[in-house]
Amino acid sequence: MQHFPNLFSEGKIGNLVIRNRIVMPPMATNLANEDGSVSQRLIDYYVARARGGVGLIILENVQIDYPRGKNIVCQLRLDDDKYMTGFFELAEAVHNYGAKIFMQIHHAGRQTTPGITEGLQPVAPSPVPCSFLGTQPRELTINEIEELIQKFVNTAVRAKGAMFDGIELHGAHGYLIGQFMSPRTNRRVDKYGGSFERRMRFPLEIIRRIKEAVGEDYPISFRFSADEFVEDGNTLEEGKQIAKMLEDAGVHVLHVSSGIYESMPTLLETSRFEQGWRVYLAEEIKKVVSIPVITVGVIREPEFAEKVIAEGRADFVAIGRGLIADPEWAQKAKEGRHNEIRKCISCNIGCIGGRVFHNLRLRCTVNPVTGHEGVYSEIKQAPVKKKVVVVGGGPAGMQAAITAAKRGHQVILYEKREQLGGQLGIASAAPGKAKINWFRDWLEAELSRAGVEIRSGVAADAETIAALSPDYVILATGSEPVVPRIKGTESESTSVVQAWDVLAGKLSFEKDEEVVVVGGGLVGCETAHYLAEKGAKVTVVEMLPDVAIDMEPISRFDIMQQLTRLGITIRTSNMVTEITPEGVSVVGKEGKQDFIRGCRVVLAIGQSPVGKELNKALEDKGIPVRVIGDAGNVGKIIDAVSSGFQAAWQV
Ligand code: SF4
Repeated sequence: MQHFPNLFSEGKIGNLVIRNRIVMPPMATNLANEDGSVSQRLIDYYVARARGGVGLIILENVQIDYPRGKNIVCQLRLDDDKYMTGFFELAEAVHNYGAKIFMQIHHAGRQTTPGITEGLQPVAPSPVPCSFLGTQPRELTINEIEELIQKFVNTAVRAKGAMFDGIELHGAHGYLIGQFMSPRTNRRVDKYGGSFERRMRFPLEIIRRIKEAVGEDYPISFRFSADEFVEDGNTLEEGKQIAKMLEDAGVHVLHVSSGIYESMPTLLETSRFEQGWRVYLAEEIKKVVSIPVITVGVIREPEFAEKVIAEGRADFVAIGRGLIADPEWAQKAKEGRHNEIRKCISCNIGCIGGRVFHNLRLRCTVNPVTGHEGVYSEIKQAPVKKKVVVVGGGPAGMQAAITAAKRGHQVILYEKREQLGGQLGIASAAPGKAKINWFRDWLEAELSRAGVEIRSGVAADAETIAALSPDYVILATGSEPVVPRIKGTESESTSVVQAWDVLAGKLSFEKDEEVVVVGGGLVGCETAHYLAEKGAKVTVVEMLPDVAIDMEPISRFDIMQQLTRLGITIRTSNMVTEITPEGVSVVGKEGKQDFIRGCRVVLAIGQSPVGKELNKALEDKGIPVRVIGDAGNVGKIIDAVSSGFQAAWQV
């Protein structure tokens, strides 16, 4: 039986046949070598996706102009022939698994920083600062623009020489080509600006000269933001005109995206965005052109992707972070095992926002193998089979149990609650975070597929565990909220609650009830958001000079907009000194005292590990123990999953 027949029908870009309609779009990884050459880890990462059945891989952004055009610390470069060999090896390795590969060629323009461009000031069509990065570019001269056009051409020629099946010009997301196309960032009055046609001169000239150099038929994809979602930026109406012009210029496929850095969540969504929310952009573009169109944006399920193709809303679907999370997304769908897909939860923590933007290599919250494909792609059987007891059914414990079982060990998992998931249940209750439940459900199903014996509703003590004579115990007992030593916290006359209890839905709040949230980290801000959505009047009090500093930048950007929209008051550099039935006393900068009204106070101060006594009791019995997740070091879901995987790998 053919599953998802439309998704798995052949597609065509120009004369190039693609085995299915699934595209891996370009996503920055920092997996290249420090000098911008192709690394083995990068090849391993892409090969895993090619082997996993994707039709077309569009390689992440490659520099044409080093270092001024660079926007991440380990970005690929092909500004010189000496880098071609690595790209050839990559293309060959991907081809060996039946996928096609395009190279996205790119210049960051103003969307970078001197820290990345090795001290050089970023350049742009006009000196319009980037408020997201806080950088001030300088205006390009006409000579420089013409040199850059030639550099795009040179890189395209090298891409063809390195056996890539096509190239993609990165005209989306507010990078240099997009900056020329947008009235927001192009204020020039010469031949490269001043009217729609003149703003399009830069991309059209690049296309014309590339076609001259590589031939009419060599496939060119053009990625652009059909709506920039910013004031003075291009809207869908301009997007349609752009599309028609690109088709006339001889582009073979349009890759329809949206947003620029200043509207960041519309180009790299946070978890509150619905599946496929921007397919409508591709659909509208498709109505005005006859070349194929690729759509992108939180497409997580093959059922959804199949419908997009079947309804003719787009010709190809780009599965971006979905493929970071599960390289076998396509293969599982094709084989009707789509329920086994490990879905991306749009957290951004392990990939672009939380790692790549911070000069770290790509990882993934839900997949501990991502970025380590060369080492961990195949789970090797343990040389000696052991009896492993895992205590705690949160993300760390569940991942540890799955990996240990897949390595051939006999695994028993204890969880004191009836339900597995640990803090995933609380985390998923914050507004827009329901996708976290996908991961909990996947872990639970995977436990069963791996053959783990689950004993839920049982609080395992040292005697219970010792009675099983385990060879190894993995303690994943998690953490609990901290109760600060603030006067009034323990008083029965005050109404002090923990953020976890709020998110767990244990308490009800009335409309317009005044609530003070103490602690402005991720948990405090998400709890404030949750309460304000329910109609409470919320003040967040934070000791540090800013809030949400433990969040990755895209989610932080997004939640700050939500807190502002909901009228939440934020008091930073304020320390709570006392909690009373009417509110909290604070001391601000320079010792200034104040009182904030609130009949309920929600604590979001942090967490501390649980399980030290059990650890000691097991060690006293001579049982080997490994402590993982929050029980060892309080962290995020990604830390829990990674520590669970590593612990089980080493048993
Ligand atoms: Fe998705 Fe988060 Fe993994 Fe990135 S880190 S691919 S957003 S689950």
